[in-house]
Amino acid sequence: MRQMMAERYWLLIRQTYAIGDLGLIGYECQEASGMHIADDLLLQIVDPQSGLEVAAGEPGEVVVTLFDEVYPLIRFGTGDLSAVTTDPCPCGRTSARLKGIMGRVDEVTKIKGMFVHPRQVDEVAGAFPEVTRCQVVVRLRGHDDEMTFRVELASGVEAEPLLAKLKEKTKDLLKIRATVEAVPPGTIADGAKKILDERRWD
Ligand SMILES: [Zn+2]
Repeated sequence: MRQMMAERYWLLIRQTYAIGDLGLIGYECQEASGMHIADDLLLQIVDPQSGLEVAAGEPGEVVVTLFDEVYPLIRFGTGDLSAVTTDPCPCGRTSARLKGIMGRVDEVTKIKGMFVHPRQVDEVAGAFPEVTRCQVVVRLRGHDDEMTFRVELASGVEAEPLLAKLKEKTKDLLKIRATVEAVPPGTIADGAKKILDERRWD
């Protein structure tokens, strides 16, 4: 997207890394050599299992402490995977930089900017006893996330009215507009991932 916009509109494009609860965490300077870490927060890279800081330069979960007196947060786990470099940046800023976001550390998946946990998928489906199995599939359509909520239904259940309610429930609980579809029984395998992320950026 960056390349497309730069070529088509002749824009200089730099990205930032921000999360609703935390605000701005990092930003690229003109060098675009990683994201400088904002200086009003404490950022740590930790082992997602132990919560302990990893060795310098190693990847791990981004954990942020905010010193905001109104909305303080201590060691907020973003679920994002990154690593920090302290190599000097040619721009002259002395802050450490995040080497981009490498992915998600666990099953929490960011869909349309919202964090979605497998438990939330079950919560949506759990509101409907007619649903026997469920799975969320995330794909990329152009540059946008596309979320499909797939369900298997008990025999004899009329799909259409239920799917409409399911769509509404998904919007309520996950804050995401999803496509909902009923699939034949047996489509969603035993032990299938609750959130199947089929997005590929490479
Ligand atoms: Zn810089």
